[in-house]
Amino acid sequence: MTSKRCEYFGESVIRDMTRLALRHDAVNLAQGFPDFPAPEELKKAACEAIIADHNQYAITWGARELREAIANKSAQFNGIQVDPEKEVTVTCGTTEAMMASMLAVIDSGDEVIIFEPFYENYGPDAAVSGAVPKFVPLEGDDFTFDHDDLAAAFNHRTKALVLNTPNNPTGKVFGKEELSIIADLAFDHDITVITDEIYEHIIYDGAQHTSIASMGDMDQRTITIGGFSKTYSVTGWRVGYALAPSHLTGALRKVHDFLTVGAPAPLQHACVAALNLPPMYYEELVSMYDKKRHMLYNALQNNGFKCTLPQGAYYILADISGFDLGDDVSFAHYLASEIGVAAVPGSSFYKVAEMGSSTVRFTFSKSDSTLQEAVIRLENL
Ligand code: GLN
Repeated sequence: MTSKRCEYFGESVIRDMTRLALRHDAVNLAQGFPDFPAPEELKKAACEAIIADHNQYAITWGARELREAIANKSAQFNGIQVDPEKEVTVTCGTTEAMMASMLAVIDSGDEVIIFEPFYENYGPDAAVSGAVPKFVPLEGDDFTFDHDDLAAAFNHRTKALVLNTPNNPTGKVFGKEELSIIADLAFDHDITVITDEIYEHIIYDGAQHTSIASMGDMDQRTITIGGFSKTYSVTGWRVGYALAPSHLTGALRKVHDFLTVGAPAPLQHACVAALNLPPMYYEELVSMYDKKRHMLYNALQNNGFKCTLPQGAYYILADISGFDLGDDVSFAHYLASEIGVAAVPGSSFYKVAEMGSSTVRFTFSKSDSTLQEAVIRLENL
């Protein structure tokens, strides 16, 4: 009695691992959300917005004040000039922005290029929109792609390419050279790039985040997706956005309107306060996550995992082939039930499960005390 499209994907493994963590009272290093408070300024602004009666639908495309603040931030931080009236759409998180973008761009049978490993949502996003995904591997310690592999993935059916930088689950930050290879191919094959940049502020060792839409004329064929969840530790607020030229925004807004009508109105007002935080906020965010990154990395290195320090985002994809504890799924279940630490099986980030069978993903988006407890438990491995 259910649709065929629902047979093409399973439930989220990431969210499932959170439930497993709760069952075993395990430290949840599976789902990437902070277990520490959001900034006071944001909490206060959200409460004030409710008291001030911002409790009915916001404008479907997003409260004007927020779209203007997003446009200012995008010009300053991302180097992308957008008209808040015609080129900014506020969505229910980047999750909705990605799904709405795919539905706006893809016809059934169109091909979409996705770098692999990939954030697990992109698989169901492709299935729901009728896209045929074509995967291009990110390989080696720096998780780079081979130019020829990428070029070979394009054909006359290719409609879009999904980019995610900084990348979940690898932590890879795409450099300017890599982005210009992607941009050239996007022009040659006349496709749209949909780029998920939710981790744009979480980037280490002085590296720079580059938005592909800021390069040449790429803004005319790019949907840039961003959000408040990760930068401001408010994953439950569900506020994200998509920047796109008006011809793409028109289609995207129609999908968005009929999917969700709009993102939570009072929280949109609070997100304006988020964008008014001083530059020091972002410096402190990076140094906080940098310490946590080293804490988890050292614990994994000292306890039998092989991994590299991520360049961005807040995950480490660790190799488990040094253990004799089965594949990624058995290993993750053992880790949660016997050691008391939850991680995500690597196979959730690949089309073919075997490709992820020797990896698991940990997040370090947790308080120091949570991470310390995980470090102690990992020593029992
Ligand atoms: N992006 C986070 C992760 O990869 C959370 C995913 C989710 O549950 N929406 O873990």
